[in-house]
Amino acid sequence: MSDNSKDRAKELKKKLFYDPENGYDRISPADRETAYAMSTEYSAFLDLCKTETECVEYSVRLACKAGFRPYTRGMRLNPGDKVYSVNREKSIILAVIGKESLSNGVNIVGAHIDSPRIDVRTIPLYEDSGMCLFKTHYYGGIKKYQWTSLPLELRGVIVKKDGAKIQVSVGSSPNDPIFTITDLLPHLASDQMKKSLYDAFTGESLNVIAGTIPSISDKDGSERIKLAVMEQLFEIYGITEHDFISADLYFVPAVSSRDVGFDRSLIGAYGHDDRVCAYTALQAIIKAKSPEKTSVCLLADKEETGSDGTTGMQSRFFDTFIEDLCASQGALARQCMENSACLSADVSNAFDPNYPEVSDKRNDSRINLGAVLTKYTGSRGKYGTSEADADFVSKVRNLFDRHNVIWQTGQLGKVDQGGGGTIAKYMANRNIDTVDMGVPVLSMHSPFEVISKLDFYMAFRAFFEFYSHF
Ligand code: MN
Ligand code: MN
Repeated sequence: MSDNSKDRAKELKKKLFYDPENGYDRISPADRETAYAMSTEYSAFLDLCKTETECVEYSVRLACKAGFRPYTRGMRLNPGDKVYSVNREKSIILAVIGKESLSNGVNIVGAHIDSPRIDVRTIPLYEDSGMCLFKTHYYGGIKKYQWTSLPLELRGVIVKKDGAKIQVSVGSSPNDPIFTITDLLPHLASDQMKKSLYDAFTGESLNVIAGTIPSISDKDGSERIKLAVMEQLFEIYGITEHDFISADLYFVPAVSSRDVGFDRSLIGAYGHDDRVCAYTALQAIIKAKSPEKTSVCLLADKEETGSDGTTGMQSRFFDTFIEDLCASQGALARQCMENSACLSADVSNAFDPNYPEVSDKRNDSRINLGAVLTKYTGSRGKYGTSEADADFVSKVRNLFDRHNVIWQTGQLGKVDQGGGGTIAKYMANRNIDTVDMGVPVLSMHSPFEVISKLDFYMAFRAFFEFYSHF
């Protein structure tokens, strides 16, 4: 081949093939600087917010600083007004009223703020063989072995019978004690090692150590260690064992977010899924200029357990909020929804060279190629996906290309390897055009997930441009 024809072939391939360049070869120096500055703030947010309630509190603080006001039913709303509504301290919806009528639809970015974790059971404390332990029930899809031999924090709330609410956070300060679930020493694990990963670690063995010193109040009695733990809890929080019945207590990794790699290009942390999309969506609605169409940011709970319940994406909370906004303009909510568009902001699996057998290199997302657009999720023949139609995906990719968002496409692994879903289908079921857009993640659902700073920033850019120009 002559040099000339080589060049021509290269040119043709560039024109005709989907072959995204590494984002670092495309990102401008200014964008790179902003990406790294933003990711430092994001890391601080992750260490602060390890539960959905903490994420909601953070969002309210940030929104109020940016001029958002709590929405009350019947409130008069004008273009440029910024409002938010909190649902049971576990999910939040924010809106910036646009110049156009709500009948023309709204632009929604929806993410979730719950992450896999270890929940405390209803009657959790028991004593066995000189130790007091918590019984737990894991929340979301976890590989159980990853949660043993791991430092854990305890976060959440206890609501006493009289309604008094007690905030619990133990383990985040360096002087705090932490908690852990033990694992078997390899010396005695010959039987365990022969088991499948599924069988070797059971939900009933995920018990968290609470204490080991017996109570001096009752030298001859039984359960003296549990008694000592309850005495201590009564002293600190004024609670009895009954109060665990009305509590939302979670064990989460006592791990801080850290830069990963010599070049510090990655962030390792607990809860990127889906706080990386929640954070970038929140920043986008706060920073976007007064939009033509109304912007809506929804941060939902319970995605990891199927989006059910009052605070999940299947709740009427979202519909009620849209109906209320529409009522203020005499618009019809169903008309608003059929003209709306939604980016279902959630993470995707990044291609992992340690496990190439589960992914398709051409179709799965990769680290540093930018934000990831996923046309469909689901499993076993696209079961359970809402799949965005070609028309809508065309408009979305056109938007990103016009505004120099570095993005790529993704899918959830090889066909019949597994699969999964997001909140996309619950939005789409409301007759809202919806497509998944998010950030590629390595070690998803583990206590230490990894994302790229460039991809994180491009997700922000994608949501920002969607609010500003879609
Ligand atoms: Mn997710
Ligand atoms: Mn998830």
